Amino acid sequence: MSLHIETPLLASRPLSLASGLDIWLKLDALQPSGSFKLRGIGLACETYASQGKRRFVSSSGGNAGIAVAYAGRSLGLAVTVVVPETTTERAKQLIRQEQAEVIVHGKAWHEANALALSLLGDDDAYIHPFDDPLLWQGHASMIDEVAISGFKPDAVVVAVGGGGLLSGVCEGLARNGWNQVPVFAVETAGAASLAAAMAQKAWVALDSVQTVATSLAAKQVCKRAFEWSQERVVYSHVVSDQDALDACERFLSDQRILVEPACGAALALAYAPSETLKRYSRVLVVVCGGVTATIDQIRQWRTTA
Ligand SMILES: *Cc1c(COP(=O)(O)O)cnc(C)c1O
Repeated sequence: MSLHIETPLLASRPLSLASGLDIWLKLDALQPSGSFKLRGIGLACETYASQGKRRFVSSSGGNAGIAVAYAGRSLGLAVTVVVPETTTERAKQLIRQEQAEVIVHGKAWHEANALALSLLGDDDAYIHPFDDPLLWQGHASMIDEVAISGFKPDAVVVAVGGGGLLSGVCEGLARNGWNQVPVFAVETAGAASLAAAMAQKAWVALDSVQTVATSLAAKQVCKRAFEWSQERVVYSHVVSDQDALDACERFLSDQRILVEPACGAALALAYAPSETLKRYSRVLVVVCGGVTATIDQIRQWRTTA
């Protein structure tokens, strides 16, 4: 049995009225770990467990680390998450409440990640937050669920960080015969690594990233995500931090679900569709979720972003 759950697919009256489109929501914010990440990470952890691994090691202080911790507890295996000093108390507490060991190390993520890699023994599996074919295969299950429901979208809107979610959505569309359905890939301006790569038609990295949408803060998307953007129709769209935050607040009021600014980025495009998106009528928005930002934090950012 998979570790993730089948999530609701629903037509959103408030978003449809706001956009003038027919907006459908895939509510992966309702996964037990609070984000879509459990789909791919759950599959990866189950696979590594079946290969005899006894412990999972992660270096994500965000939704990936929380999903690994959840998967480990569900499978009865140990989890160690190494996070940098900048990680919030809330994120550490969310990982610890899944009974995972949290090690705080280093000023930035690459230092925490280096320690995580150095801990790996023969019985350990390292779980990458976005760059592993098992993750994409697992994330693709959300599109299988949509296809089974009988609903076929004209376009899909998805947030992009390291591009694992985008790769999974494209894989899911491909394996359901929906390669012609365009994907709108949304990033915030301070972390627009896919937009940069697509503009240069090269798998480039940004020098730095700066955004309130911390789950999107990857300097470079995984190679597979870039390849998908060259192989099929992917429209890159960039929103401001303020737009992403406003969308979080509005979505909370409209749908009574709190999501991170990372997810707010995708919702921002749905609330205010671009001319390109307006060419389509039935639009599926992947509500990827995220648990690391409280409403107080989002409101504080809104006054300063
Ligand atoms: C990880 C994450 C993303 C981005 O996913 P990638 O696979 O890194 O592109 C978006 N939203 C939330 C809530 C996330 O946790």
